[in-house]
Amino acid sequence: MLRLFRYLHRRRRANSGESNRNNNNNRNNNRNAVALITFDVSLPLQHGYLGNDLQPMLPDASSSQTAADSAEKLIVELPYFVRCPLGVVVPGQIVPVTLHHPVDVSAMSALHRSGPAASLVAAMPRLCRFGATLRILAFKEETDDSSGLSTIKAKLIGWQRFELLSARREFDGRCTARVRLLPELTNPRLAPLPGAWHSARSNRRLNQAASPAPAWVMDSYRPSRLATEAAAELSNWCPTVADAAAKSAEDPLGFSYWLMRQLPFPDWLRSELLACEHPCRRLVACLAALRRCLGFACGGCGTRLAGRADLICLSNAGCSGAYVNPSGQVHDLVTVATVTKSSLRCRGWSSSEHSWFPGYEWRVANCRSCGKHMGWRFDRSTGQRRLQPKKFWGLCRSALSPCWVETTDETADAGSC
Ligand SMILES: [Zn+2]
Repeated sequence: MLRLFRYLHRRRRANSGESNRNNNNNRNNNRNAVALITFDVSLPLQHGYLGNDLQPMLPDASSSQTAADSAEKLIVELPYFVRCPLGVVVPGQIVPVTLHHPVDVSAMSALHRSGPAASLVAAMPRLCRFGATLRILAFKEETDDSSGLSTIKAKLIGWQRFELLSARREFDGRCTARVRLLPELTNPRLAPLPGAWHSARSNRRLNQAASPAPAWVMDSYRPSRLATEAAAELSNWCPTVADAAAKSAEDPLGFSYWLMRQLPFPDWLRSELLACEHPCRRLVACLAALRRCLGFACGGCGTRLAGRADLICLSNAGCSGAYVNPSGQVHDLVTVATVTKSSLRCRGWSSSEHSWFPGYEWRVANCRSCGKHMGWRFDRSTGQRRLQPKKFWGLCRSALSPCWVETTDETADAGSC
């Protein structure tokens, strides 16, 4: 029996050592990949394919601040675009749109005329209960002389959390959602106390003394501790994001949204995270999801596509960002350096037309097992020999399914897809 225990102990230590070596190898591979990136990561967020003549329209931050700080939960009716599903948007996320349908063009024009404080609703209202409103960042309306039809190109920004109450479609095709705008709660027992004469340490002691919760509970919700743990966990994902985590951790509310924007999680999980009223609770939930997620699989058949260490950050927005094609379909892409061998099949010819990553040509990529459209492969153009990486993949977040760690005792250490 004693020898059996020693054997199990040695095996556990060996597994642990192998896991650490794998993590270190992943980190080293990722750091090498980061060092090789010569692509200008500020370009994707500019969405230059929409044109450079969009009229800037900065949202009025003070009007939202009033609603966010109010204890009263405001109920409002806002438009949404059923022909242009945007998915669940996180506050601060930039979403480009191209609208062709006359009803959508009319609704967006009315919003533009209402001023920078006007909002619209993102998300798929019938499927997700929580989401975020959007405001207009930049706007352009074009009219075709021959047909007389108008097209709107705009850049939107995620603004404030909401809870969906109901949605309806008017007789003329306009869609309206009745939502409750959710304030950002800051529990005074968890937030720093006001006053310049308080040091951070004295604030923490006063908070702990005023709270009925034990000190270790208060400590586990401390924003700086959560930020440190998130940065450590993100080093297993993408080192660029991990380095940025430490800089973004000063403000718990902003950091919780920043972390959500980096993580390519499905809409249902984003909606659940947006339901968290306190930013520290949202951070704790994000950390739990970070620790359990091992990679991503095809949402249609479950074929393993990429591990979390395969993520590559090619945009200032992070590893995940929204882009729109000429027909108006918005795709939220996750960029990965490599995919599992023989998991995807490219179809059609390479094209640089309307490329979301300037200097790269795209090809459509489908799942080899079930044929589901998973995204695109991007190869550098012929004249861009100095551009690195040479190729990468952009996978649609809506087509992916996360691979979670198994929680059963037998596989708790190993985890599987
Ligand atoms: Zn598949």
